[in-house]
Amino acid sequence: MIMHESLTALIRDIPDFPKPGIRFKDITPLLSDPSGLSLAVELMANPWRDDRPDLVVGAESRGFIFGTALAQSLSCGFVPVRKPGKLPYETVSIEYELEYGTDTLEMHKDAIKPGQKVLLVDDLIATGGTAKAACDLIKDLGGDVLGLVVLIELEALKGRDLLEPVEVHSLLRY
Ligand code: AMP
Repeated sequence: MIMHESLTALIRDIPDFPKPGIRFKDITPLLSDPSGLSLAVELMANPWRDDRPDLVVGAESRGFIFGTALAQSLSCGFVPVRKPGKLPYETVSIEYELEYGTDTLEMHKDAIKPGQKVLLVDDLIATGGTAKAACDLIKDLGGDVLGLVVLIELEALKGRDLLEPVEVHSLLRY
């Protein structure tokens, strides 16, 4: 628990960002702290050391930060999920609901081979919409989603329920 408290102290709450009513969890103090960053990556990787993934998938853009670090820690590859028009090769895409309107995510169509075990990573789960869309892309390509790991879970928004039956691990819960 003491270890988690040291991480909590490195998350900065910014009220009303990017719009009124949102309490933004700023992870940059943790990212710039050498022991905080390595502890966060180690604790996020630990649950997956026995049943190791073949690939880690992270969504633009904060999923890239923890995703590549976790992939290295677990000795597996990394696959980026990106906003439309960013990936250069042929893509598969998925449209998903936001509070107002929709958004789209893309992945290279050859990024995952059928049957590969995939760990999804992000900095934070709120409603779970982003993670659910990424899971659906992984499954479309035949990947087997081992679970989702995030640094921060906003429990009141019940993103975990949206992802069921996918296993969700979070380090810090608010
Ligand atoms: P959601 O799809 O609702 O689970 O939102 C998750 C995505 O939005 C993650 O990639 C987060 O980086 C970002 N996000 C949502 N809410 C917050 C928040 N309160 N503070 C920081 N990032 C957030």
